[in-house]
Amino acid sequence: MSNKNNIQSLFPILKSSVNNNKLVYLDNAATTQKPNSVIAEINKFYLKENSNIHRGVHHLSQVATKKYENSRLVTQNFINARHSHEIIFTKGTTDSINLLASSFGQLLKKGDEIIISEMEHHSNMVPWQMCCERSGAKLKIIPCNKIGELDLDMFNQLISNKTKIVSVTHISNSLGTINPIRKIIEISHQKNVQVIIDGAQAAAHVKLDMQKLDADFYCFSAHKLYGPTGVGVLYGKENLLNLLPPYQGGGEMIKDVSLLKTTYADLPHKFEAGTPNIAGVIAFKKSLDFITETGLGNIKTHEDKLLDYATEKLNSIKGLKIIGTSSDKSAIISFIIQDIHHYDLGLLLDKMGVAIRTGHHCTQPIMKKFKISGTSRISFAYYNTIEEIDHLILAINKAIKMLS
Ligand SMILES: *Cc1c(COP(=O)(O)O)cnc(C)c1O
Repeated sequence: MSNKNNIQSLFPILKSSVNNNKLVYLDNAATTQKPNSVIAEINKFYLKENSNIHRGVHHLSQVATKKYENSRLVTQNFINARHSHEIIFTKGTTDSINLLASSFGQLLKKGDEIIISEMEHHSNMVPWQMCCERSGAKLKIIPCNKIGELDLDMFNQLISNKTKIVSVTHISNSLGTINPIRKIIEISHQKNVQVIIDGAQAAAHVKLDMQKLDADFYCFSAHKLYGPTGVGVLYGKENLLNLLPPYQGGGEMIKDVSLLKTTYADLPHKFEAGTPNIAGVIAFKKSLDFITETGLGNIKTHEDKLLDYATEKLNSIKGLKIIGTSSDKSAIISFIIQDIHHYDLGLLLDKMGVAIRTGHHCTQPIMKKFKISGTSRISFAYYNTIEEIDHLILAINKAIKMLS
């Protein structure tokens, strides 16, 4: 950990000043900052390699295609998927889940049921509500307890032979809870139900192994893994992806088109209609390289240290209450402070250079459950330091004085 300064120096934006203070960036659950290697790769693509993929016989198209497909191989490796064609590139987690909800929606009928949880991001809630409206299927909700853990007894009661899909988040973006997804997958598979995992908050923090985990589908966004915005991953088991109807029609996803009838391309292209974010996908490889070279074990150890330290320091602030206190948590802390609105706190911290998130974090139902309108949320990445947490605590204490 002694080389933390060197890590920060890989991320040029972290040198910025905000309101005359050095930036302390603690909004990593919303998006992470990008290392030089990712920024340089995007630049290089547009300077030297720009071309459309899969279609051209010319040199540039072949270079771009090769690099794009190499990102797929690196992603396959990163999550230990069995086949590279089980990796579908999308625009992000939201896009991946919409793809699934839309495609599954065509196979569902009245009487079928879908199970999600109370702590889902709106991205893993609204698409299923829409899917239910279209198909006549019913949405069932796993509740969570006072400390922000899923109620597995209730899940066992909810799941039945009517259940077709279970879709839950690996890590809650507003509470930090790491859900027991292996157990959820096991229970679901005993009933022959397919499981979708929203991994948006997990992929940068815990080692993923699709073959061990046995999830049927797993979704995440590059921009939360030190990568570019506008790139996402949908992992799906080959046989299941083959069964699903395509999501969007267009170029790239076809085998043969005549005026009235089309046959679809094989995986993964069946689900990648149109020109994708080529530069983004290519640069995504660099962010995966960064994580792999750093080591997810080292990342987790460091972030757990930050989590423990910050939890202890925050708990010592009078009137502050942490929302989400599961014993199994990732690098996210949500809190409220008595008589202080999270929005006011966020504004004052920003004046002191500290970037945090305030509001409902796209999880309004869980906020309603805790009877609050929102929280202040801090979330860590590998480049954050103990010193930054000290600065945060000082800033919060200052803000409390100013607001009370
Ligand atoms: C960020 C997030 C999403 C949505 O990701 P996008 O990149 O905005 O599509 C979904 N679920 C969780 C848990 C998230 O944290």
